[in-house]
Amino acid sequence: MITTMETMTKRQKKDIRLLTGFVRLYCAGHHGETSRVDVRLPADLGTVPLCGECGQLLSYAVSKRLSCPLEGEKPSCKRCRIHCYGDRERQKIRQVMAWAGKRMIMSGRLAYLWHYLF
Ligand SMILES: [Zn+2]
Repeated sequence: MITTMETMTKRQKKDIRLLTGFVRLYCAGHHGETSRVDVRLPADLGTVPLCGECGQLLSYAVSKRLSCPLEGEKPSCKRCRIHCYGDRERQKIRQVMAWAGKRMIMSGRLAYLWHYLF
């Protein structure tokens, strides 16, 4: 479960919306028959139905994004000096973004996060 934050920057909100979009697309494409539960997003971002595995990944990614100590300092996570993700989570989110990113590009949506994070 993600802790509700009172204040988020516009950039944080944008990133979290995009992260959610990626994970949701991936989950729909890979875990079609799995039962889903609503994962609550911070502040006013609502909920998203995901399977257990994807819900965990998204919660992890969102909490990392919200607790980033370098907010405003760096141009992208790709060039970050901290690399706050664990190896396993990093592999997983890259996999999600590679798969979902291709589909977003094909459907004409801007793959901003793809460049931003990895
Ligand atoms: Zn899933």
